Amino acid sequence: MNIILFGPPGSGKGTQADNIVKNFNSYKISTGDLLRVEMKKNTDLGKEIKTKIDRGSLVSDDIINNLIVKILSNMKNINGLIFDGYPRNWNQAKSLDSLIKKYNQKISCVLCLNIDIETIIKRVLGRLICTKCGLTFNKYFNPPKKEEHNCRLNYLKVRSDDSKKTIKNRIEIYNNNTLPILDYYEDQKILHKIDATGEVNKIYDEIRGIITSLET
Ligand SMILES: [Zn+2]
Repeated sequence: MNIILFGPPGSGKGTQADNIVKNFNSYKISTGDLLRVEMKKNTDLGKEIKTKIDRGSLVSDDIINNLIVKILSNMKNINGLIFDGYPRNWNQAKSLDSLIKKYNQKISCVLCLNIDIETIIKRVLGRLICTKCGLTFNKYFNPPKKEEHNCRLNYLKVRSDDSKKTIKNRIEIYNNNTLPILDYYEDQKILHKIDATGEVNKIYDEIRGIITSLET
């Protein structure tokens, strides 16, 4: 079955997408990965994408849609796709819809991870990584304990690109461009809202329950 996974940055969407792929024999599509693969292949399209990204401009919906066509038209992916972070806006949602019909497939369910902005900010800004052993912690949710981690505390660093302003900005883009698409899937009665503030494993249990109930 094909599944769309929605969630703001910091909601744990990528982790849950990986869990679904592992358990349900499916293939994850994230547009970031698709763009990277195309650039690596150094095709004309790949070169065009690289120029845009180097210039700091957004990759157009047309380019993204072309990459999605390649995946959808590949028979080995039929009805086994997890869309992670796509569609991102109305234009992409409409395009995905017509492509899905064209290749005789359907979207079985849309999962939306809900989480409040304060929790996201704590999750992302509280991230600590030990530069000595590579373990990761969170100042608020998973502080390093002496019994489990005995490197000196000055090895612990916050990720530099995680500034509050950047995160707020990304959440705002998600709220403005992506959230409005959910109504469309709600009307089709395939939208499932999931509380993503709790533990990763419990959230996945809920997701697995929903997908399993669709399979039977
Ligand atoms: Zn360490």
